[in-house]
Amino acid sequence: MQDIEEIEKLVRLISKLPGLGPKSAKRIILKLINSRDELMKPMASSLAEVYKNVSRCSSCGTLKSNSNGCNNCDSNDKKYNKVCVVESIADQWSIENSNIYKGYFHILGGTLSSSTSHRKEDLLISSLVERVKKDLIEEVIIATSATVEGMTTAYYIKDSLKGINVEVSKLAHGLPVGGEIENLDDGTLFSAFKNRNGVGNKVD
Ligand SMILES: [Zn+2]
Repeated sequence: MQDIEEIEKLVRLISKLPGLGPKSAKRIILKLINSRDELMKPMASSLAEVYKNVSRCSSCGTLKSNSNGCNNCDSNDKKYNKVCVVESIADQWSIENSNIYKGYFHILGGTLSSSTSHRKEDLLISSLVERVKKDLIEEVIIATSATVEGMTTAYYIKDSLKGINVEVSKLAHGLPVGGEIENLDDGTLFSAFKNRNGVGNKVD
């Protein structure tokens, strides 16, 4: 492609997307340029709409439409008594696709790490505590990754729920060390859920 500044800029941006390098970015841009009216224009306006109208819910961490509110939090029919705590929306999607679990999700938005990228206040842990109390949750299933950060985060969550009458469990140790939920196959996820371990907290 010729040295056109606008295109170079777009290549740099698209290459940052998951699974895409400069080569596929260029192919995407070529396709867009060749389909200006059918693709490029509607995509640009669609991106602008998503930018304006979609954000993360500050209570449960899932995506919500700013005009319609959060499906999780604003719904009045409380149908579940479990909440599964995950690091990212991608983790939630993996668990949902595997059909292993029926219940609410709580998306932290990362893990606690020493590398300062996430501090306790940045993760939605205090809002988790609020949700558990408000929605009369009976079990919190911690499904953070089997990494040092994931385990530290799990420990901190358990600690934050101390004194609340709720069962706290963690996915089974069958998780491969360093295993990120998003990348696990359904079989591994299934046994991790089925064999999850109670980590205490229930107040009698
Ligand atoms: Zn919400």
